[in-house]
Amino acid sequence: MLGAMQDWTMRVTHVIDHAAREAGDREIVTHWADGSETRTNWQNVRRDALKLAQALEAVGIKPGERVASLAMNHARHLVSWYGVAGMGGVLHTVNPRLFDDQLDYIVNHAEDRVLMYDAAFQPIVDRMRDRWPTVEHYICYDPPAGSDVVAFEDWIGQHDGDYEWVQGSERDPCMLCYTSGTTGNPKGVQYEHRSTVMHAMAGLQTAAFNFSAASVMLPVVPMFHAASWGLPYAGGMAGIKFVFSAVNDPAVLDDLMKREGVTDSAGVPTVWLAHFQYCDANGLELPKLKAATIGGSAAPRFMIERLMKNGTRVQHAWGMTETSPIGTVGGPSADWDQLTFEEKVDRTARQGRPIFGIQLRTVNLDDMETELPRDGKTSGALQIRGPWIIKRYFKADRDAINADGWFDTGDVGILHPDGSLQLTDRTKDVIKSGGEWISSVELENAAVGHPAVAEAAAVGMPHPKWDERPVLFVVAKEGLSVSAEELREFLADKVAKWWLPDAIEFVEDIPHTATGKISKKDLRERFKDYTLE
Ligand code: ADP
Repeated sequence: MLGAMQDWTMRVTHVIDHAAREAGDREIVTHWADGSETRTNWQNVRRDALKLAQALEAVGIKPGERVASLAMNHARHLVSWYGVAGMGGVLHTVNPRLFDDQLDYIVNHAEDRVLMYDAAFQPIVDRMRDRWPTVEHYICYDPPAGSDVVAFEDWIGQHDGDYEWVQGSERDPCMLCYTSGTTGNPKGVQYEHRSTVMHAMAGLQTAAFNFSAASVMLPVVPMFHAASWGLPYAGGMAGIKFVFSAVNDPAVLDDLMKREGVTDSAGVPTVWLAHFQYCDANGLELPKLKAATIGGSAAPRFMIERLMKNGTRVQHAWGMTETSPIGTVGGPSADWDQLTFEEKVDRTARQGRPIFGIQLRTVNLDDMETELPRDGKTSGALQIRGPWIIKRYFKADRDAINADGWFDTGDVGILHPDGSLQLTDRTKDVIKSGGEWISSVELENAAVGHPAVAEAAAVGMPHPKWDERPVLFVVAKEGLSVSAEELREFLADKVAKWWLPDAIEFVEDIPHTATGKISKKDLRERFKDYTLE
């Protein structure tokens, strides 16, 4: 027997309806690629989303079909998030930084029928068009004056917005994101209305994004990467002001943050690195944000420290495309007020604690089965389950989880007694030396603490006696130098003695993936003939 409460399917259309009704005139600011700026609000975003839904139906898009976006962060992209989902479609956010073969693969795999894109990506469209036979309509978000492409505003402008959102199951899909795939083809993760709404609601809590109606958020994390951490939906629920920038230039971001009263931001660590450098080089103060969410890769200690000293709460988050993406976030712990500044920085350097809905466990790396204690010491393969965690990749014929519902993240971490997660490596990068595990990430983090080191990557190289031994590849900062001996000495009191790299190699550059992370696969390939004795 059912209970006696009202029916309320968890569809993302509720979010935009709520935002338009309760925060209709709250602004959405966009700094466009050509330097111009526009202002709209939640009410207009809803109206335009209704028009987009009509435009998509007019060209024959049916619920469940994929509509792609190839775009940076801006208000028209936000309209697309709500408009596509609102007519029952599935928005496929394409990452413009993927390589051509990956772009070819994912658009065909998704069978995208419409592709909405930024003028900045016109070269990609021109190059790929012939390889994307499923795409029938190309719509440009911001066409330059005089061009003959179909302009988004004109395309939706033919409709009046008199439209009813498509009703359906809350388990219907609404969005599709591909992982960049460090091995093999990218894999699609198809989010549902329900998982998206639950994830966004969970993201609102004080221990996560902590939004209020007064929040002004500039998300640097792109809307094409891991659903921009769910911010476009969480922001709608709280009716916040959004400030979007279609360019990731620190000068633009800094100016926008200061001019628009930005209180919150979110991005990968390199974004803050660039911001620090920009402010330092120009003698500027960092913007006075209330909170910065950092994730995607580990936030270095010095970054956390500097932001905290500037009065900004750092929320260190961990997740992946497969987890919608929020798994853990570093909100203040119960004993926060009793901690010293140093302890607070240490705590924040961990990847946070699971938000409600998420369960985590670590298992033995050798058998991938035996559950490990949450003792703050033992590291193992990190597994996750919950209502916004992947069950099966898009179009796959098998589930991606085990019989008990656990998804193996490919990450290696330590769980602490207070529930916090400390990520130590990726399962494929952890270095096995004499039957013991060495964290490549910890070695790298220690190395980048040296003032002359710009970037470092530790890789396990085959060793006749120990199986593998760490080799550290280092890019020195421009104009600075350090010797292998000096660096080894610097590392000596930061990691266990047997973790010290057998060799330190200075290189011009370290290869990166399409999402800007170090590509160990390419690095191993580059040094495949490397030998240690
Ligand atoms: P890809 O970069 O392959 O497209 P994701 O963006 O989904 O995929 O990346 C997810 C991975 O990023 C995680 O599995 C983890 O290894 C890494 N990651 C995410 N957040 C953090 C963090 N706060 N600290 C360290 N690593 C992180």
